[in-house]
Amino acid sequence: MLVSDDLLLYYQRCDRRAFLDVFGDSGDRDPLDDFLLKLRQDSRCHRQEVLAQYDYHRPHWSGDDWYGATQATLELMEQGVESIYRGVLSAPWLPGVHLLSKPDLLVRHPGSSQFGDWIYVPHDIRFGKRPKLDYQIVGAFHGLVLSLLQGVWPDTTELVLRGRKPHAVDFPKRVPEMQQLLYDCIVTLRGSQTPELFLSRQKCNLCHWYSACHQVAESERHLSLIPGVTPSRYDQLQGMGITSLSSLANAPRSQLKMAFGAEAGNQLAQQAMASYEQQPLLRDGAMTHLLASPGNHWLAAPHPAIEIHFDIEAEPDLDLDFLLGALVIDHRHQSQTYYGFMAKNPEEEGRIWQQFLALMESYPDALIFHFCDYEVKTIQRLARLYKTPKYRYQALVNRCVDIHWWVTHSSILPVESYALKPIARWLGFHWRNPQANGAQCICWYNEWLTDQDPKCLEAILEYNEDDCCATYELKTWLYQFLKPYYLGAIGQDLAMKNG
Ligand code: SF4
Repeated sequence: MLVSDDLLLYYQRCDRRAFLDVFGDSGDRDPLDDFLLKLRQDSRCHRQEVLAQYDYHRPHWSGDDWYGATQATLELMEQGVESIYRGVLSAPWLPGVHLLSKPDLLVRHPGSSQFGDWIYVPHDIRFGKRPKLDYQIVGAFHGLVLSLLQGVWPDTTELVLRGRKPHAVDFPKRVPEMQQLLYDCIVTLRGSQTPELFLSRQKCNLCHWYSACHQVAESERHLSLIPGVTPSRYDQLQGMGITSLSSLANAPRSQLKMAFGAEAGNQLAQQAMASYEQQPLLRDGAMTHLLASPGNHWLAAPHPAIEIHFDIEAEPDLDLDFLLGALVIDHRHQSQTYYGFMAKNPEEEGRIWQQFLALMESYPDALIFHFCDYEVKTIQRLARLYKTPKYRYQALVNRCVDIHWWVTHSSILPVESYALKPIARWLGFHWRNPQANGAQCICWYNEWLTDQDPKCLEAILEYNEDDCCATYELKTWLYQFLKPYYLGAIGQDLAMKNG
């Protein structure tokens, strides 16, 4: 069995992924998407920038010949060269287990090893800014494999981070953790069963087994697809004998409240019921929010003449909001018009902000609907940056209605998550390009900046317009869903006030 640094890295994130990487059918893997490609490219550029500061040697090897690659690396280590880029370290460890590690750099330090009065210390170049625990564990793994070859442990592995000081991995702390993980990983790989899946956005986001796992989860109606079922709650549910959606939906509410607390237990019970019945529900306590929120004017007001749906595309690495998209719905004339204010280069951001502001001010009474709080934060950021007087931007902010806040505080939906895409898809809305998403737009925009291909901008505009339309669709549904409850609550309130 070959256990590599990459395998251990992914094992820490998900045991199933490590297992599938070794035994899965490679035909079931998702293809690399543009966002992942961009991440890899950015990481490669960062690596090249760091490497420019080193005078390194590179061992010659090709393909999967790990033995030959290790021999070539050892030759350079024996010669005592200053640093080695893309060295390969492989060595037997336990019976039947071979370890393989590929630190970005091996840097010569004073010390005593089997080569002479020098040792090597691994350096890993990471695109991230933080010394994440999984990087530190891999750093400790490099130390272990290197110790098997040079006869002595290095003091540390240096993590070379983006825009930060290098981080020296604390070996006394991390090596025992790494060894435990390594044993666990070997046990998993020696087992005959594929580890159980648990889908979570954070963990599965960039995993190439996502579609395959999602298919399995859907067919099993797996509990990880239910919003609010976290890994620790999942374990607790298993312990309570609740292993399926139907058993969760039918569990006594008191049992869930006892296990997870009143609020979370209630919420979980409602969510399970909505998912099981495939029906939306009014969230417990929603009426209190509806009546108390100062922003409920959009529910209270008569049908508006004009409403606006607003969505932004941004490139965080450039600190740039490059597209301000607005869908203007004119109910008087039964028309809808999309405006996409696009900065064709970063210098145009100020211009599109002024254009957007002028459009919003031309409809001074229209409410501005958006999904999540990014749009309001951006209005405030752009106003500060381009010195817009407070009375102008505050007037916009006062008209903003965050539909995500309203959905999550008022209703329970049979969806896997409360992001715009799953909710709008549940309503039957379809994006014209099913592959498009915010991350893909960042890739298209960078492609536009390099190649000036107008198709990239067209694709971004189409996606942004669809996002605005999806927000409109959701707002319309939510209005119809909540209105009867809202009117009922208002009636009750009035009756109580009148005695
Ligand atoms: S999609 Fe998620 S559960 Fe499936 S292998 Fe990848 S990380 Fe693990």
